[in-house]
Amino acid sequence: MRKKLLLGNWKMNKLVAEAEDFGVAAFPLVEKALVHNIDLGVAPTYLSLPIVKQKVHPKMIVAAQNVHFQPSGPYTGEISIPMLKEFGITWALVGHSERRSYDNETNEKCNAKIKALVLEKMVPVYCVGETLAEFEQGLTKAVVSAQVREGLKDLVAEEVKNLVVAYEPVWSIGTGKNASTEIAEDVCRFIREVLKNLFGEVAEDIRILYGGSVKPENIKAYLSCPNVDGALVGGASLKIDSYEGLLNNII
Ligand code: PEP
Repeated sequence: MRKKLLLGNWKMNKLVAEAEDFGVAAFPLVEKALVHNIDLGVAPTYLSLPIVKQKVHPKMIVAAQNVHFQPSGPYTGEISIPMLKEFGITWALVGHSERRSYDNETNEKCNAKIKALVLEKMVPVYCVGETLAEFEQGLTKAVVSAQVREGLKDLVAEEVKNLVVAYEPVWSIGTGKNASTEIAEDVCRFIREVLKNLFGEVAEDIRILYGGSVKPENIKAYLSCPNVDGALVGGASLKIDSYEGLLNNII
């Protein structure tokens, strides 16, 4: 039985003090989530990671939004895995569509990051999803399959057992245009089949999230889909009331 996961992606939002306030306010929510066998998490900016990690419930997942694949070196503006580990951060998003569009995050680069993360026993949340043009041309599965195969190239079952995959159609991120639950389930089921082809039965343990304009009002429908194990949520994860609403509606 896969444990449900609700992960907020704060993107480039919240000053450190705001992130800290949220972390403190979320403490009882984590208690509530645990009772219902749900994992709760947030992905703050790099600057807020240390304080959030320090102030939140010890069982709350605190993820970086990105990471470099090299441990150190001449990579101006980047943050490495040892730097995250120094603050107890063991989760990182990889390949978010905003990074794919604005920062040339290719499947190959994602692969290097995922390999580096699993080597350090960290948990990658690997984001995949098609653009609007690809969706309209019926290319969703071809695109997502290539992203999964190339992003997870040369990994073995043991290394991906803790991996999380997030299916986020680019056209639904921050747009208010939701993918229907039928699309979300169909693509998440397809991703699981691709994972099964690559890694065998461990695919049944890998959590696959849906992301894209998820709100308290629609989260329950997504999480009722058999292959959707949780949600990666941007806008609706920023305010504590809305975050609590997301949790309450999946309990
Ligand atoms: C995201 O940032 O991953 C996301 C899904 O954003 P939003 O929920 O705002 O669409």
